[in-house]
Amino acid sequence: MKIQTVGAIPSRRGQVEYFTGTVWADLIVNPVAPARLQAARVSFEPNARTAWHTHPLGQTLHVISGVGCVQLWGDTPRLIRPGDSVWIAPGEKHWHGATANSGMVHIAMHETLDGNYADWMEYVSDEQYAQAASGQ
Ligand code: MN
Repeated sequence: MKIQTVGAIPSRRGQVEYFTGTVWADLIVNPVAPARLQAARVSFEPNARTAWHTHPLGQTLHVISGVGCVQLWGDTPRLIRPGDSVWIAPGEKHWHGATANSGMVHIAMHETLDGNYADWMEYVSDEQYAQAASGQ
């Protein structure tokens, strides 16, 4: 057993290659083989979002606070709120983040495949984001 006390692992800024705007990630689970589950609490400021990406083994998002948005490639953007859980299937191209008027915090849970949990693509453009986040 190992207890990870709050603050023991410093908060990390979301990497600029993968996120637009200010995003903070706090690691909850960092898997030690043979375990593969990784989890993080991710905090998005208003207008902040991931780039488009896929997950090799899928991902579950659980919203803790604020109002967020999630969108599959070619599909209608959906607003997500505290208590909502979202399953992203393996290989589904998508993004998630805050809305324009509200930040959003979610717990992201995903299994790693050969140490990798995501394959990153292009940014969500301001035009794509404005269309998605206007639904709130
Ligand atoms: Mn994702």
